[in-house]
Amino acid sequence: MQVAIKVDYIVEIPDSNIETITACFKKVLLLFLREFVTRIVNEFAIQYMNHETQPFTCTKCGSKSGFVWKTKHAKNTKIATIFGTIILCQMQVQCKSCGKKMYITRKLLGIASRRLMSVNTKKIFSLLGSLTSFRISEKILKMVGVKMNKMAVWRCTQEVGEKLEFDLDINERARGEADGTGVAINGIKKRGKELKVFVQEKITGGVRIAGLSIGKYEGEWDKLFEPLKSGLKAFESFLLVTDGDSAILKSIKGVKILFQRCLWHLPYQMKYYLWKDGVTRKTQEWYHILGEVFDITAIRYGVDDEKEIEAIVKAKSIRLESLILYCLQKGYTNSQSYLENARENIFTAFKNKLEGKTTSKVERVMKTVNMRIKMGKWSVNGALNAIKVRLAHYYNGFDPLEEMDQKEVQVFDAYGNVCC
Ligand SMILES: [Zn+2]
Repeated sequence: MQVAIKVDYIVEIPDSNIETITACFKKVLLLFLREFVTRIVNEFAIQYMNHETQPFTCTKCGSKSGFVWKTKHAKNTKIATIFGTIILCQMQVQCKSCGKKMYITRKLLGIASRRLMSVNTKKIFSLLGSLTSFRISEKILKMVGVKMNKMAVWRCTQEVGEKLEFDLDINERARGEADGTGVAINGIKKRGKELKVFVQEKITGGVRIAGLSIGKYEGEWDKLFEPLKSGLKAFESFLLVTDGDSAILKSIKGVKILFQRCLWHLPYQMKYYLWKDGVTRKTQEWYHILGEVFDITAIRYGVDDEKEIEAIVKAKSIRLESLILYCLQKGYTNSQSYLENARENIFTAFKNKLEGKTTSKVERVMKTVNMRIKMGKWSVNGALNAIKVRLAHYYNGFDPLEEMDQKEVQVFDAYGNVCC
């Protein structure tokens, strides 16, 4: 439908400086928007009322037709848009069959009753809150003339994040990686909580997010893995690269899960356990252990011969065993038990002729998580929801702005030429 829009205001302005003019424009923006919305929604309402049936139904008797105008100037209602909050005068109609009076403005705008904003507006604010801190969100909005406080951005992020769900996609690759990162939590001193992420590899090469949870450090991995159980059953076999406790997945029937230690992480985690054992950095012992670990975990892929694979695994296993023995003799108990726990799942991918990697795909994702999560302190759910929105945007195609850009709208000047 075409609607002609005219705005007519008088501004009082002290000078013609561009700063002064834009400052004035920031003020009129919402007035213009209010006119704009009112004109368009009223025009649609008038058209609909001239039709046989209406795109709304009577809330009392369910009738889809036979409405008569009550008033175009009923009580006001408040609506938040990405440009700020506007107050609209509502239109009211009456059902001829049952006599029920109904406001139709919100129905036509697609905003539920008593809700301040539409679902997509909320998504846009949630995206902003997941891209940068809530404080900076407020500042950015203020720069372009939008009054929206940081708590409101926080609420949008929470509500949208809470509803986002992740799962495996049967059409993508049968392999995934899990990893965790620390989150500073309000009221918890020291290390806070750990945010855990599970990514599934895509056929096109990238990754998508298939799971997200928050819990204790180096614990509560079941929170991440439990929701994946049913999704995993759709695969014949699945290569799971993780350093976390994946015991919960060991008993799933119908799918062969190949557990593989993350070879990329192993040497880095080793440094942590060496530190726990009090081994001084850069000493002969420290270099010896790290050198062995780096070498044992460096695997040459593309070997096809069963016997050769067997021989390589055997050679590496012997070296690993003697490294464990070395730790035992030196009294490095943390390092020793770390290697003992890992040994079972170091060569899984290699033995199954699956390409393992000594680079981590989830590592890039964790950087995306950290860039946001390291800003400030969080509540447990607050952190989880914000990261859900953030990762859904970067990896799973969540993009409310694109949705907005795809609307088929055109603007013409007074002579009928297309302006935009
Ligand atoms: Zn009715």
